[in-house]
Amino acid sequence: MDSAALVIRNGTLIDGSGKAPVRNDALVIEGNRIKSVGRLPPELQLDAAEVIDATGQWIMPGLIDAHCHLSYGYPHVKGEGRGRGTTRPEFGVLKAARSAQRVLRAGVTGICVPGGTWFTDVGVRDAIRLGLMEGPRMHCAGRMIITYGSIEDDEPSWVGTPEHGVGVLCNSAQDMVTEVRRQCKHGVDFVKLADSRSGDVQTIAREEIAAVVTEAHRRKARVAIHSRGAGSTRAAAEAGVDWIIHADLAGPADLDAVAQAGIPIVPTMTFLAMVLEASGRYGQDVIQMDVNRMKRHFDGLIGVVEQARSRGIRILAGTDTGNNTFMPFGELHAKELEIFVRYCGFTPLEAISVATRDNAFALGLAGEVGVLEAGKLADVIVLDRDPVADIRVLQGGQHLACIVKDGKVVSRAGRAAEDVPLTLKQAAA
Ligand SMILES: [Zn+2]
Repeated sequence: MDSAALVIRNGTLIDGSGKAPVRNDALVIEGNRIKSVGRLPPELQLDAAEVIDATGQWIMPGLIDAHCHLSYGYPHVKGEGRGRGTTRPEFGVLKAARSAQRVLRAGVTGICVPGGTWFTDVGVRDAIRLGLMEGPRMHCAGRMIITYGSIEDDEPSWVGTPEHGVGVLCNSAQDMVTEVRRQCKHGVDFVKLADSRSGDVQTIAREEIAAVVTEAHRRKARVAIHSRGAGSTRAAAEAGVDWIIHADLAGPADLDAVAQAGIPIVPTMTFLAMVLEASGRYGQDVIQMDVNRMKRHFDGLIGVVEQARSRGIRILAGTDTGNNTFMPFGELHAKELEIFVRYCGFTPLEAISVATRDNAFALGLAGEVGVLEAGKLADVIVLDRDPVADIRVLQGGQHLACIVKDGKVVSRAGRAAEDVPLTLKQAAA
């Protein structure tokens, strides 16, 4: 390991803890951890260190996206046969690896991946972890465990869920337990369960969720669930899942159960916002949910987030980047924060803490990363604009001066012309 320190001098420190920004003298990194913040330690040999001058800039923890999919087959590459992305695992892995690099170069140093095809995400995670390639920290699930009628049960019953699908049909608790064992054998960090697409019916019973939780926890894997409906949210909280994704239709009693369980919610408003902002430009074949219904879900989520916070339920920030053509990698990972500020009553500083300190939970690294203080893992970004003055400057990596992940400066040289993220217009064309 390189023993020379990495020192970020000057600048305004937003440490991720929620504390007000302060002028900082030196952030010192040794190995992959933060050694000190505040005054430059007198014993430190600056001429032996790598020094980054952040005068006039802002220093904060690297962003974490608590909901990002790398292996759904997006983006579609020009010339690639339609719909073939996920049916060719080899090509899919290479696309996922490239997408992961794009995510990191946008200042996102960690992602939670709640579902994908094959074991693509596990493979990319390990390639990054073992130093074969650069990329964000990844915490990932495999294919979502579903029943007939759940989201990702897209084929007729006589076809089932092919191997290249995002879901895997398990129509009994025993089948679910077997699938948990298979996925744990292949190295998932957590198991993703999924209820119906929009929560209109509950497709997984509480007993089945509990069976999955018991087996996964015994094997030291966590459990998350796609749950828009009230019934499944309540059942999931009572059955002991570790976090809930969406929870759009939860009522007061359901949220009481979530608060009682002490688990966070990842509302994921960005995907809904992107559809609504496009105002009908995407057809049913693209979004698979009625736009009016999505508007009701978005409005409902504003209330859910408010009610959840008033109960002390932690809200995490996830975007669903990579789940569709108009959710490009590297672009939207901080859009959830803009939505929290604009619609849900968060201050920009609170929103930043959600995407850093709080989202560390979704990486399995709570208390280890996401706050800039001595002893924490060194994931840091430096910006040339103040994100507290305008939370939108965190989007798309446009205002990044520097990215440090796991104590190492990330080269942004790859962010060349061909690597410019897909714009909404290109994606929709
Ligand atoms: Zn998703």
